[in-house]
Amino acid sequence: MGLLARAKGLIARPIRRKFKSAAPVYRGDRFLMGLLGKMLSRPGIAPLAYGEGEVFLIKGGLFMSGVSIDRSGYEGVGTVWKEDLGQRHYDPDARTSTAPLAPHALWLPHAFYMPLYVHTDSPFVLRREAGTLYLYLEEMRLFPVELEKRPAYYSKLTSTGIPMPLIGPHRLQRQVLVEYNAYCHFFAQKAACLFCGILAERALLPSRYGSYFAASPTEVAEVVEAAYGEGVCSEMQITGGVLPRRAEVPYILEVGRAIQQRMGVSVIPGSQAVLAPPSSLEELEALKAAGWQGVAFNLEVWDERLWPGIVPGKAALLPRERWLEMLEHAVRVFGKGEVASVLVAGLEPKSSFLAGVEWLARRGIYGVPIPWAPAPGSALEGHQTPTTAWHIDVTVKVLDIWEQYGLNPQRHSSGGLHYADLARMRDHIRQEQAQHPGQTEAGDLRYLLAMEGKLPEL
Ligand code: SF4
Repeated sequence: MGLLARAKGLIARPIRRKFKSAAPVYRGDRFLMGLLGKMLSRPGIAPLAYGEGEVFLIKGGLFMSGVSIDRSGYEGVGTVWKEDLGQRHYDPDARTSTAPLAPHALWLPHAFYMPLYVHTDSPFVLRREAGTLYLYLEEMRLFPVELEKRPAYYSKLTSTGIPMPLIGPHRLQRQVLVEYNAYCHFFAQKAACLFCGILAERALLPSRYGSYFAASPTEVAEVVEAAYGEGVCSEMQITGGVLPRRAEVPYILEVGRAIQQRMGVSVIPGSQAVLAPPSSLEELEALKAAGWQGVAFNLEVWDERLWPGIVPGKAALLPRERWLEMLEHAVRVFGKGEVASVLVAGLEPKSSFLAGVEWLARRGIYGVPIPWAPAPGSALEGHQTPTTAWHIDVTVKVLDIWEQYGLNPQRHSSGGLHYADLARMRDHIRQEQAQHPGQTEAGDLRYLLAMEGKLPEL
């Protein structure tokens, strides 16, 4: 078998297992696999062979097939390198074993950042040799990489004796994440969002405060202060499920006030509260007064016919019109670019998805494209997300819309995400074009991916 065909086969096999259907059946994914194979079949592979476009595609391969870690790749995890604590809300690794401690994230060439999904049968392998960590495609060494360093606050305890990372793990390059629980009342009501697997997540702590919360506001404030003080975090997010009698709203207010007081600030820099819209304008203003710099009210789906079917609990909580009104109120309260609403890419037609992004952007709100990865424990577990080609096309169109309305893609919670990567490549292309007018983009893989939203033809 030729090298190209073999590389395609190696990468396709675990993807097919993971998604329980034939991922590379689609044209776009076949191109991705083929491109990887073509790159790897070049004679004398050298780090220079991997430009930003190529590394972006390998990152895509890692996202789809995960990575296997040689014993040597675990050295120093939990001491030098940051361990994975499941700090992905709606964690695709939710049911995997925690022993031994797995690394959380990887730095690839050109400063690409990738949270790791460990799959023992992945063709991608991490192996450390003479102190240098390498990414392999089976026996073929691709390039040196490195794990993400462990923040110092991971070794600290709160004044109540709780390890700080259990209350506020670090993620997305620069964020401290406070997930106040791994529970949502909509599951008890049989009205959970169909894509949501929050109940399958490993809660880092049991409920220890009030009836529902892992940590007290004082404990959260101590962790946030330590993470910001160390300089590893410049943003924070609080999130969790919808609770009986909307108990999360007063809790988020309490947490904000505790951080304000502890850090001596009126606005918590880079903070975002993720919740269903509160019931009144007064509560919205109270969130602002409690120090939150921005909010996210995640619609998840734009199409008004699909919305009540895919997010039935949300639809029963507030009519869609009211949800949209609250988003518009939120921009007036928090300002342009400080309000977001995740739209899960792949749950609805491209046209309605982009119409939603446009409606939101026109009002200064981010409609954030998070690619749907069918989550363990969700009603849609085992389903198939659209092709890589579909996601890249949609993401580049979202970047076009954001540019049109002056929304910076390097936004809150974007660290290491695909849209931030593509936006960075767009910036680099434009800077180079400004420095070298007349330079052609022909053959520049970055241009094809980040400007045209296409995968390469082989
Ligand atoms: S509101 Fe929906 S997405 Fe959020 S935790 Fe509940 S079920 Fe999951």
